[in-house]
Amino acid sequence: MAPPILRIESIGKMFGPIAAVDGVTLDIHENEFFALLGPSGCGKTTLLRMLAGFETPTSGRILLEGRDISPLPPEKRPLNLMFQSYALFPHMTVRQNLSYGLEMERLGKAEISRRVDETMAMTDLTPFADRKPEQLSGGQKQRVALARALVKRPKVLLLDEPLGALDKKLREKMQLELKRMQHEAGITFIIVTHDQEEALVMADRMAILKDGRLLQCGSPEEIYEAPGDRFVANFIGVMNFIEGKVSENGVFGAGSLNLAIPGGKTGPAALAVRPEHISVTTTGEGLAGTIADIAYHGLDRILHVKTAASPVPLQARVAANGAAAYRRGDTVSLTLDPAKCRLFQG
Ligand code: ATP
Repeated sequence: MAPPILRIESIGKMFGPIAAVDGVTLDIHENEFFALLGPSGCGKTTLLRMLAGFETPTSGRILLEGRDISPLPPEKRPLNLMFQSYALFPHMTVRQNLSYGLEMERLGKAEISRRVDETMAMTDLTPFADRKPEQLSGGQKQRVALARALVKRPKVLLLDEPLGALDKKLREKMQLELKRMQHEAGITFIIVTHDQEEALVMADRMAILKDGRLLQCGSPEEIYEAPGDRFVANFIGVMNFIEGKVSENGVFGAGSLNLAIPGGKTGPAALAVRPEHISVTTTGEGLAGTIADIAYHGLDRILHVKTAASPVPLQARVAANGAAAYRRGDTVSLTLDPAKCRLFQG
């Protein structure tokens, strides 16, 4: 594999006694769409600001294409940060907003015009070239902010909650557009988000942070299918946890549930299983339960089922057409797919 474009080596940042970022090591590859994900206060913004040069690390190094950029001020780094607030120049048109940064770099007029046209086409802004920010919608303004960062052709573009100000519908549309634009521009994107769905939709790989520490790094699929610990399992998607124990014959038991799961050690354990890996029938040999609630999720329904295996109702996903048969209060039988169950112990 090619060497990473960006290597973050044991980076740390203390604010007084608080370790906002605590020994994070990460490799980010060229043309990757990389997401830094975690709950509020986990240190993702601080990490991004250290990459951009707005915050000085207390420890560790940042290597861009093998060169330590830690001592460089923000403007000398071939990285560009797109801020949460768009900070567009209100008195300038879209074209002027994009040209400004290139004029500061003293590029020739023809070159500026060519690059601005190309970037406006990529971000679908050509029809709005002569409008001012106040004459644009939220989504269009967001695209201008992105275009202004892209037009400078940074090696790496850093984006702090770039879709944070948009409503849900526009946000979902922009997630796909942002991914397309990243692909077309051929620029490495590092995005900060606290929204796990957003990270799953957009990222090639993602890092999950908590209390300044890196918990897991991998593709959305790896993290969803094989979460490394309980926090990650709970943070990404919906997960059922059943508290129980593994007996000497290797069988996990909780209440009336008994399931052979490979790899378990004798002792207390939490079994984790996603709603899509629990199948529901009305007549079966599985775990008996009663439907406490039915939640509508577009094409799917999530049944909340009370069982003797857990004090918390288990969530099972069923297709909408199959769900029509179920009513609250119905007795059902649940079957857990052992190949998709994971055990968390200790
Ligand atoms: P959010 O999603 O809420 O923006 P975040 O994951 O981006 O959170 P950071 O802003 O990086 O988190 O903050 C990480 C920790 O460092 C928090 O505990 C925060 O209170 C603390 N912190 C951040 N900036 C400073 C500062 N300038 N001085 C002191 N503490 C700070």
